[in-house]
Amino acid sequence: MATPEQHDVKLDFLAAKSAFQQQKSLTLRQRLDEIRRLKETILARREDIIERVMAEVGKCRTDALIAEIIGAVDWLQWLEKYATGILSDKRVPTPITLLGKKSRLFHEPYGVVLIICPWNYPFHNAITGIAAAFVAGNAVVYKPSEHSPCRGLIEDILACSPALSAAVKVVYGDGIVGSQLIEQGPGKIFFTGSCATGERIMAQASRLLIPVELELGGKDPMLVFADAVLERPVMGALWGAFTNAGQSCSAVERLLVQNEIYDKFLAKLIAQAEKLVIRSQDPHGDVDIGRMTVAFQRDKVTAHVSDALSRGATLAFGKLPSEDDLLVSPIILTDVTPDMLVWREETFGPVLPIMRFADEAEAVKLANDSEYGLCASVFTADRERALRVARALEVGGVSINNVNMSEGNPGLPFGGYKKSGFGKLRGPEGLLGFTRSKAVLIDSGGSKVEANWYPYTAGKYERFLRFLTALYTPKFGRIVRIAWHGLRLEAFSQRPR
Ligand code: NAD
Repeated sequence: MATPEQHDVKLDFLAAKSAFQQQKSLTLRQRLDEIRRLKETILARREDIIERVMAEVGKCRTDALIAEIIGAVDWLQWLEKYATGILSDKRVPTPITLLGKKSRLFHEPYGVVLIICPWNYPFHNAITGIAAAFVAGNAVVYKPSEHSPCRGLIEDILACSPALSAAVKVVYGDGIVGSQLIEQGPGKIFFTGSCATGERIMAQASRLLIPVELELGGKDPMLVFADAVLERPVMGALWGAFTNAGQSCSAVERLLVQNEIYDKFLAKLIAQAEKLVIRSQDPHGDVDIGRMTVAFQRDKVTAHVSDALSRGATLAFGKLPSEDDLLVSPIILTDVTPDMLVWREETFGPVLPIMRFADEAEAVKLANDSEYGLCASVFTADRERALRVARALEVGGVSINNVNMSEGNPGLPFGGYKKSGFGKLRGPEGLLGFTRSKAVLIDSGGSKVEANWYPYTAGKYERFLRFLTALYTPKFGRIVRIAWHGLRLEAFSQRPR
């Protein structure tokens, strides 16, 4: 017998399918008008959104403004500017072997796209995926995390546009509901979350042959070379590791500092960490570090730090989280070794483990020694080295002399290598990810047949061989030979039988 959720899930999907049929009449221009309306609504209602997200996940005000609001509207603005060029039909060159024909490429929607999100950026993650899917012509079933559903918020904001409201169905629930949604057979699944869940989703989707994109966890390294001006990477490391209380997939989770500057760097890092304002000091206004969102993630921080300390790491700053508080003070660990959990597994909390390196080769080796490959940052005054290292790092995004910033440009694709997943969010690739390509070849029709159609004869075979040789064997008079053999082949199309 169907559970109440199963019943709802089926109806939700039917509603989304019918919304997809209805929105087919909207042109891309009309969809982009709705996106502009959405952007204006988010800007006008930003304080409501910030308050709501702060209350639900505990992040501080500036984190909410930067990531949830600015990140979302930047993407909407980018869509307004570039989506038409990316999604419009394309003329594709047709080779000489297909003389007289024309080629076109259409970017078409999947139908209903299922978007499943985690709890760390409940507004930004929802709006970014929903907007891209809608602009590409899809209807959306969106499932937020059960840990930060922000119940009603997305529907409330989308209500600025009847077309968007109709196209997007928000379904609340946990992983079981997520799995039931997959079972309804969406055209595509866009999943953001942990590696473990990503594996389960891919297994289920493979049984149903549903394409998936997986935006998974990270263990991002930051490399600081001795020639960098220290103040910038010191402040960059603090922000990169502790923004959103470290609950960011592309947080700095491994800091690598070159031997020559290590001691000086660490002293400055700790001096600056001491100045950070955490929520307990200013419960109502803005602070630097908010609380963690969920107890199980705080417990993971405790487990990773305890493991590191038991294996010889030094607590250079901060203290172990207390069991009854989600407010976790930033933690800096030194004397870290690669076998420690805090260096190998995603912590997803305000913890910054540090290791030293001797030279570029060692830095790259240590950075790449990870199952993950989301993003990385490199600080150096040597531009050539920065680009060389950026190429050598096995990650999907690199910020040079900055941190978490390759994802700041909505025109750049965001997404990982290795166990950090595949597929892209944002950028042209991210938008096209919500489409499937349709290849169209146009011939003029008429009474002719193709030379490669039946009947096959020894003479036709020989002619094709000569044409092939003329095409690909560089010789004097190549064009004349191609034309000659091409015309002889063409003669076959004039004589059907
Ligand atoms: P999670 O994997 O536990 O849950 C994510 C979502 O999946 C939730 O909505 C959950 O209900 C749903 N879900 C769980 N089991 C499911 C199943 N079997 N079928 C369908 N849906 C299911 O992740 P989380 O704890 O919410 O988020 C933290 C993780 O997300 C971290 O690993 C973080 O790095 C990652 N993350 C990645 C990105 C990125 O863009 N790469 C961005 C943000 C967060």
